[in-house]
Amino acid sequence: MTTTTEQELLARVPTGLFIDGRWQDASDGATFAVHDPSTGAVLATVASANATDGVRALDAADGARASWAATPPRRRGELLRAAFDLLQERRDDFALLMTLEMGKPLAEASGEVTYGGEFLRWFAEEAVRIGGSYGTNPEGTGRTIVSHKPVGPAYLITPWNFPLAMATRKIAPALAAGCTVVVKPAELTPLTTLLFVDLLREVGVPDGVVNVVPTASAAAVSEPVIADPRLRKLSFTGSTPVGRTLLAQASQNVLRTSMELGGNAPFLVFADADLDEAVTGALAAKFRNTGQACTAANRFIVHQDVAEEFARKVTERVAAMPVGRGTEDGVAIGPLIDDRAVAKAERLVADAVSRGAVVRTGGHAVEGPGTFFEPTVLTDVQPGSEILRDEIFGPVLAISTFATDDEAVHAANDTEYGLVAYAFTEDPARGQRLMERLETGMLGLNTGVVSNASAPFGGVKQSGVGREGGAEGIAEYLETMYTLTPDPFRR
Ligand code: NAP
Repeated sequence: MTTTTEQELLARVPTGLFIDGRWQDASDGATFAVHDPSTGAVLATVASANATDGVRALDAADGARASWAATPPRRRGELLRAAFDLLQERRDDFALLMTLEMGKPLAEASGEVTYGGEFLRWFAEEAVRIGGSYGTNPEGTGRTIVSHKPVGPAYLITPWNFPLAMATRKIAPALAAGCTVVVKPAELTPLTTLLFVDLLREVGVPDGVVNVVPTASAAAVSEPVIADPRLRKLSFTGSTPVGRTLLAQASQNVLRTSMELGGNAPFLVFADADLDEAVTGALAAKFRNTGQACTAANRFIVHQDVAEEFARKVTERVAAMPVGRGTEDGVAIGPLIDDRAVAKAERLVADAVSRGAVVRTGGHAVEGPGTFFEPTVLTDVQPGSEILRDEIFGPVLAISTFATDDEAVHAANDTEYGLVAYAFTEDPARGQRLMERLETGMLGLNTGVVSNASAPFGGVKQSGVGREGGAEGIAEYLETMYTLTPDPFRR
């Protein structure tokens, strides 16, 4: 059951569509329910946009396009900075709301407020650094002036696992660059985005610049928006299969796209690693968000000489992880997002065990209410097991072994994904060799956390296209053009 504090917060969360600066019902009055995955209780009923509403949101974004692009970069940056400051003041509200609708432990939700907020601060600072260049062509006959302009209206689709950070990681660079946006949050966790967009309204982001269309009909709303020639950019974070579909749709109008897709991160532990640090890194890389992160370590590939000691140490820590509702003190493992996620964890564990894996702790779903799965460690995971191929998206740490560096690198790269890899070694030259050989967009070298607003987050291979954060993040929302003029001294 929700407490009084929780009910008071929920009563303050807007539940409509936000179009052209106005909260409103869906044009056909449709709604959908948002649930607490730790209890199954309904938290709120939210307006469900339809295709017409999606296009109306794009009308608003297109209407505000020219004035927002012409708004001084300093002003755009100041609005983002004001949003950052207000988010800090409201930190507890945002953290609790994320815990309620998504299930993550409260301390992690608070960490996401910090992480998500940093995109506002970072891009507030980047807004005034959109540069260009002026140069003489090699022949000396002309001058080349390179400039950058906002791409134009952008459609931003976000997943449920980081309800605040996935929104700010897109909205902040888009606004900094001078683009207006339509945001489609995940059906399972729209409330955080709605509360955040209300905060943007409160700090003075002009009408039409940010529009939000929560919906229970993602495809029906998205298709006409993506097909509309006024849209100039599609930025998506979610699964690789949906990313493929959206890329196909985006190809019709040759849209600029950013795709932050799935992962299958290897976590390499070499014989020379500091094992205690590797264990701490493993817990962070695996169990953050109850394993429901694109950056979650999916395959632990450990040198055979230290595999047993690593397994023993990690099992001891995992077996002691408290499982429960994210609002309870000390909880490390919250619920999975829904029944399907629990069924998937069960299926992957059963398949691995049928092929010879050993369950060292956990291995089962927890009785309801709520959709919980025990934090689990598997050793002796055999090649060919589905758990090595599929994104687990749950609290299951699967260990296999290697003998040589070549074998470790081959195993790490043996996936169509390439989002992130982790490696623990005390040998700097080995670390550097891994940097050059691993097929990945990001590498955590002796650390289990790679996310930082100042770094260009993103993947290679089927983990995506483009980068979010860093200097690269704003470039995703800018067009480059050049002007060539004759040498002014010869005219
Ligand atoms: P998902 O099923 O692909 O959904 C992501 C978003 O796309 C949701 O808003 C969803 O709406 C929407 N969507 C689904 N089908 C659509 C369609 N046909 N047209 C338009 N929109 C559509 O992924 P998820 O289960 O929410 O998130 C987990 C996945 O995201 C994992 O694979 C994870 O690795 C990946 N992820 C990647 C990153 C990264 O930065 N690389 C970060 C976080 C998560 P509904 O909610 O209404 O279905």
